[in-house]
Amino acid sequence: MSQPLIGSLSMDLDNKWAYLRAAGHEDWESASSYFDIAVPRIVELLGELNLPLTVFLVGRDLDVDEDVRSIKSFDQLPSWEAANHSLNHLPWMHTMSDTEIESEIMTTHDRIISTVGTRPRGFRGPGFSCPAEVLRVLIRNQYTYDASIFPTSMAPIARAVFLARTNLKGEQREKAKKLYGGFASMRNPNRPFMRHEKVDGETFPLQEIPVTTLPFLRTPIHFSYVTFLASFSVTVAKMYFSMSLNMCRMTGTSPSLLLHPPDFLGCEDDSDMAYFPGMKLKREEKLSFMRWALGKFAREFDVRTMLDQTKTLATTDGFVPQPATT
Ligand SMILES: [Zn+2]
Repeated sequence: MSQPLIGSLSMDLDNKWAYLRAAGHEDWESASSYFDIAVPRIVELLGELNLPLTVFLVGRDLDVDEDVRSIKSFDQLPSWEAANHSLNHLPWMHTMSDTEIESEIMTTHDRIISTVGTRPRGFRGPGFSCPAEVLRVLIRNQYTYDASIFPTSMAPIARAVFLARTNLKGEQREKAKKLYGGFASMRNPNRPFMRHEKVDGETFPLQEIPVTTLPFLRTPIHFSYVTFLASFSVTVAKMYFSMSLNMCRMTGTSPSLLLHPPDFLGCEDDSDMAYFPGMKLKREEKLSFMRWALGKFAREFDVRTMLDQTKTLATTDGFVPQPATT
């Protein structure tokens, strides 16, 4: 049998306040953290399956002692990488000034170094927003990769659903109309590629690892979407996930799969989260589905952190050099 294809597993460690703010709740700032419930479950399940993890951290939470304590428990995993997910998790980085963008990235960068003790090498923009200035800041600060591309055909649908359900008003609502990119996001590659970005007149390389979608159809395959399907039918969700992994193998797409904390929470864990897709499942149902899906990924692929995945891309056929996309 040939070597298993290399893949990666990451988590956007978005806290409850980020979900509530996106939904337009005015009291989002006073939301409690759910890290103390979700993180131990993540560490336990991934530890059991011997899976590594890249965790995209939001700087705002790195200022809260209890949250930092939860984050440090990722040290119990066989291997984990702390990466940068901006300071305030504002999904409209494309509307910010250069100074604001730099502060969103670098404040979190410094907080990761002072709390976790490692230097972040990867960045993912909240809401998959990826303007050129973000890439320039990453290059100037020796980042290895960006992970802000979500090449899905569902972007316009996801945005319409978001706008229909959120209470955001005024300027924030206008900004949200650009979320997820348009159909243009589908023109982005669905596999890791090398960008070439101009900084101060010189061209530099930066690896891009998109959040993998279903090859060809480009429907989402990240776990929040698959658990959302499971809330209608576990059988259908399992078929869809199995088919997705098969398609990645058949097309030689090195999968980079994405987790969020609510993937480990059931409806009885947090009533504030009931609004969100995939939160109808009971805790036991959700965790048993996640154990099945992550176990399958662990058995069928050589799963690494994203930083470890970037080291292999230049030497495996998962690497496809492409011209920079704008
Ligand atoms: Zn996020």
